[in-house]
Amino acid sequence: MISYDDALQQALDTLSPLQPKELPLNQAAGLVLASPAQARWDMPCCDNSAMDGFALAGGSAAPDTGFAIVGASYAGHPYRDEVLPGQTVRITTGAALPKGANTVVPIEEAQEEAGGCVHLTSPPQAGQHVRYRGEECRVNDILVEAGTQLRAGDIALLASVGVERVKVYPKPRVAVISTGDELVELGRVPGPGQVINSNLHLLRTRLSECGFVPVSIGIGADDPETLSQLIDQALDADAIISTGGVSVGEKDHVQAVLEKRNFRKIFWKVAIKPGKPVLFGMLEGKPYFGLPGNPAATAATFELFVKPALKRLAGQVNVLPERRRAVLNNGIKGGGTRQAFLWCRLEWQANGYRVIVSQHQGSGQNRCLSAANAMISVPAGIHKLDRGTEVDVLLL
Ligand code: AMP
Ligand code: MG
Repeated sequence: MISYDDALQQALDTLSPLQPKELPLNQAAGLVLASPAQARWDMPCCDNSAMDGFALAGGSAAPDTGFAIVGASYAGHPYRDEVLPGQTVRITTGAALPKGANTVVPIEEAQEEAGGCVHLTSPPQAGQHVRYRGEECRVNDILVEAGTQLRAGDIALLASVGVERVKVYPKPRVAVISTGDELVELGRVPGPGQVINSNLHLLRTRLSECGFVPVSIGIGADDPETLSQLIDQALDADAIISTGGVSVGEKDHVQAVLEKRNFRKIFWKVAIKPGKPVLFGMLEGKPYFGLPGNPAATAATFELFVKPALKRLAGQVNVLPERRRAVLNNGIKGGGTRQAFLWCRLEWQANGYRVIVSQHQGSGQNRCLSAANAMISVPAGIHKLDRGTEVDVLLL
């Protein structure tokens, strides 16, 4: 059986980012830039004041009467005339520095006299409290590089320099097919032997949380025809996930249905616990993930394979789960010959990270998923680890 690391690498090697498209900046949050974004003008676009105070020519001597206040430059309302030696204008933060002025004296260091004059408490340093044109950036400077996932700070920066549209990789649209005769949708009370299609809710929520677009295709009964019809519908999306029916039971039809189509299998069965029967390949140019149906296995294989692969489609550069080292709060069992992944809660406690491991690790349960924010990775070959051991933790 192939190892987790090798299987993931094979999946990533198979995939490349989706075709980039141009979008308005305000629709690009969370997306990855496909080409660098450049400033459309100098920033700031003119010399301006960093303080509320008085603008004057630095080094110009004050007459005995003090500097004569000849006007004002407010943010959004510049002073149009020239400030001559011995003169000053009131100025506010962000207001344009008038011609003739190159220095700002803060209000706190100026004394305004009756008669429209200002005395300074100390001589100003020429050029003080001025933000110079272009000191943040120059026109055409590259401000955000290709490959950057756009966050609020990037978007604010680009907005400030007039970037209205950006070239980005679109959000992958991901079809979710649920398989199983026993599944019913939320809203119905399951009869004997039936269960709610909870995996759909997990995947829909996780896909949205991770910045992808879920497309629910519905429940397929355990028969090849309906499954094949659902796959036809799913091919509209950029990637396809199915849950269940991927193992070796007589009702597991996913592989057989795919093999009748033009499916290029990359791997099936990985040495992990839970999630061993996970299947991955390409169907008509789209990545297809066949996830095992047990809820904890669906969730684990989503984190371990689907999420990194979809990040790849979305143009992200760092696609692997982020890791921490943390100390076990309770003893755990490993996966024997397989690499084990245990649902846990990672918490910062005084002097380091600790992991609290859910006592409900059964792969058929949802219980372990609730409140989990990470998975412990236990290498193959380890049968148990004691409380206090340091372990590798993958953040969700
Ligand atoms: P399978 O992988 O089809 O053999 O399913 C394994 C187990 O997972 C069975 O107990 C199924 O009832 C359960 N299961 C499969 N699909 C889902 C689903 N969408 N939601 C909740 N449980 C599921
Ligand atoms: Mg099934």
